[in-house]
Amino acid sequence: MKKPLQATQSIPELVTEAIPDDERLWVPQADKIWFRPLILNTTNGEWVNLLRITKGGVMNRHRHPAPVYGYVLKGEWRYLEHDWIAKPGMFVFEPPGEIHTLVVDEGVEEMITLFHVFGALVYFDVDDNPIQHDDVHTKIEMCRSHFEQVGLGADYVKQFIR
Ligand code: FE
Repeated sequence: MKKPLQATQSIPELVTEAIPDDERLWVPQADKIWFRPLILNTTNGEWVNLLRITKGGVMNRHRHPAPVYGYVLKGEWRYLEHDWIAKPGMFVFEPPGEIHTLVVDEGVEEMITLFHVFGALVYFDVDDNPIQHDDVHTKIEMCRSHFEQVGLGADYVKQFIR
């Protein structure tokens, strides 16, 4: 009998509605900012999530030590430090060293963008001092406490951890 091609060490696949019907899957990150986890990789420190920001939302100025790939699904947003506007269908590459402040203007109801992030976001204050960071582990902790709070249970996050 022919051997199956599926590798014996392959981990289970994950197939899901990226934009969920269940509002509880959106994890609050900050005022007017939520993320929907898809993959949280604790082996190489990357994660894939949808970021949702509603009108007037600002994601504090942060720097990336590793690359970020983005694909805009809905709405519009921009960085204060750049003169382009991200719109649905656009692909964004943020190289290591890039520092920026993401804003969703008042005229935009909400934006949703798929971000594939490596490493961390290091947040800076107005005097250019690093004050805080996010990485795959802070994301997991946010998921755990949110999913616990909304009744899904902290371990609900485990399906996204690879
Ligand atoms: Fe960024």
